[in-house]
Amino acid sequence: MCEAVGHDNPDAGLEPIGPRDQVIDMTGFTRQIPDGDNRERDVCAACGHIDYQNPKVVVGAVVVSGTAVLLCRRAIEPRKGYWTLPAGYMEHGETLEEGAAREAMEEAEAAIAIDGILGVFNVARIGQVQVIFRARFAEPDRPFHAAGPESLETGLFEWDDIPWDEIAFPTVRWALNAWRDRGEGALGHPAGNPAADPRGVHRITPVGPAA
Ligand SMILES: [Zn+2]
Repeated sequence: MCEAVGHDNPDAGLEPIGPRDQVIDMTGFTRQIPDGDNRERDVCAACGHIDYQNPKVVVGAVVVSGTAVLLCRRAIEPRKGYWTLPAGYMEHGETLEEGAAREAMEEAEAAIAIDGILGVFNVARIGQVQVIFRARFAEPDRPFHAAGPESLETGLFEWDDIPWDEIAFPTVRWALNAWRDRGEGALGHPAGNPAADPRGVHRITPVGPAA
């Protein structure tokens, strides 16, 4: 067995990957198509460990208070200074719902109650699947929110006050539109990508809420 860090699980692409596997010594890797595969991977020449690179799951929430929605202004790149939903990469060992709640706490210090899945979006351009929930504040009468370390500020916005020209990512618009379409009603099938960008390959452009 190879002694390099992170190469001890040759089935890592087929099984849950533990946190320690995230740090991988890439010394001695070469790009090649493994047997039975059909695309190039980074393969360790010593032990055959394959460093599979696959899309990541982003979890987040449209957190609603009355008719207003919680947004966070980003303190970090990319899109620093632009407004987004509380959302981020899912962590090992948590569920989708737990991840969305954690991101709301981290980015907006908001304790939320998950309602259901509002949208599932493809972002093929950067290898992401985004699962966005509809949620409310855990204490609806006390919708506390404040900027966490990754936010410059947070705010509750009525629909007409949403800063559409300062939205960070296309999926934020898509999720907000899905919330507008469903309101407080039954969620039904999750929203998906808009017809104009079914695969999620376009960067955001300043075109307003209908994009
Ligand atoms: Zn190795």
